[in-house]
Amino acid sequence: MVQKMVREFAQKEVAPVIKECDRQQQMADFVLPRMGELGILGICLPVKYGGQGMDYISLGLVCEELEVVDTSLRVVMSVHVGLNSLALFQWATEDQKQRFLIPQAQGKKIASFGLTEPGVGSDVAAMVSTARRKGDDYVLNGEKMWISLATKSHHCLWVGRTNPDAADPHEGLSAFLVELDRPGVTTGDIHGKLGVRAGSTGWISFQDVHVPTANRIGEEGEGFKIAMSCLDNGRFTVASGATGLIRACLEASVRYAKERHAFGKEIARTQLIQQKIAKMVQSYEMARLLYLRAGWMKNEGKRNSRETSLAKWFATDASFDAASEAVQVHGAYGYSDEYDVERYLRNSKGAVIYEGTSEIHQLMQAGYALGYREDVPLRCELPAYDPAFWTA
Ligand SMILES: Cc1cc2nc3c(=O)[nH]c(=O)nc-3n(C[C@H](O)[C@H](O)[C@H](O)COP(=O)(O)OP(=O)(O)OC[C@H]3O[C@@H](n4cnc5c(N)ncnc54)[C@H](O)[C@@H]3O)c2cc1C
Repeated sequence: MVQKMVREFAQKEVAPVIKECDRQQQMADFVLPRMGELGILGICLPVKYGGQGMDYISLGLVCEELEVVDTSLRVVMSVHVGLNSLALFQWATEDQKQRFLIPQAQGKKIASFGLTEPGVGSDVAAMVSTARRKGDDYVLNGEKMWISLATKSHHCLWVGRTNPDAADPHEGLSAFLVELDRPGVTTGDIHGKLGVRAGSTGWISFQDVHVPTANRIGEEGEGFKIAMSCLDNGRFTVASGATGLIRACLEASVRYAKERHAFGKEIARTQLIQQKIAKMVQSYEMARLLYLRAGWMKNEGKRNSRETSLAKWFATDASFDAASEAVQVHGAYGYSDEYDVERYLRNSKGAVIYEGTSEIHQLMQAGYALGYREDVPLRCELPAYDPAFWTA
């Protein structure tokens, strides 16, 4: 039911305008309100927190269907749901859930995630943004760069340094939910991106932004742990979305290979084209199983950082390869925007960079295998899916 609803929205409402939005580097105005109206923005959150009461696998299915049409739609889910709302569900107090999570799940407030800075990406603990305690407030300063929905969001889950003297820099960070209409906040869009051009990516600058202590998510010093659990959820949406992109490449390649003739036969009848199609089938099935496993682990309340990282790394690398081969199958036509596959290729490149580059995921996987890395229990784990609680 969820798949069908999201497929209809993406195929009927977004697909007809996506090429033009991509050309204009503009997100269509109707996308966010419509996703809110359909309940997609709170799909896997309990009804009592404004959501639809579905499980985490449903979130994956939604992301897969959205990215079959365009990556920009799935990116909305990654930041609004994966990186922000699920972190509130996991770490926020009941009061914070009432104030921030409910309007987000209902789609009345749009949410973003501010971690990356102009000089700091993968090495999160080196960030330079600061949050200094002043009475009952914190004063926030710093620049966040490459922030999805920067100019479209009302709330940003923002991480900065509260303790510059912490012996371990990981322990000097804290997380805040910041309303972006506070004085001292400025935002802007980044144009000229290679892909996700129908999406919104920008920067957020804080200059002496006062936020009350009541906006701090988790304890002081828990910012790094919170950011990593945000990524456990965001990466799941990227993995499932990239699986959808592989499917889109496969469907487009099958269609074209049967239409196009060369040397007196359909190009689909040639072995080398069949090899590309077979590889896409293999990648799709493997990516799907990996994200479904991670979704099942989330449903069961099992820690899944390792499995989610593997699913994200595999699916994003495989979607980049599938998109490149889909362009190849289309020959010169694939090299123009007459067909969708050139957009798939440009979009697929982003996902091997954001939410942990492929290199970072390789380091993680090797670290787990070698015993250099293990996940320690968190003070607040992502709640296991409980149908009675979710739908009450
Ligand atoms: C479209 C888009 C949307 C984004 N949305 C958001 C968002 O909403 N919120 C947000 O906070 N951020 C966002 N980002 C930023 C993204 O998360 C970062 O780009 C990413 O974490 C990588 O950081 P970086 O670009 O600074 O690269 P760097 O960390 O500078 O890395 C540069 C290169 O060095 C490699 N490298 C770094 N360290 C190592 C190492 N130890 N070993 C081997 N290789 C290494 C990397 O893999 C990469 O190839 C977005 C980025 C894009 C492109």
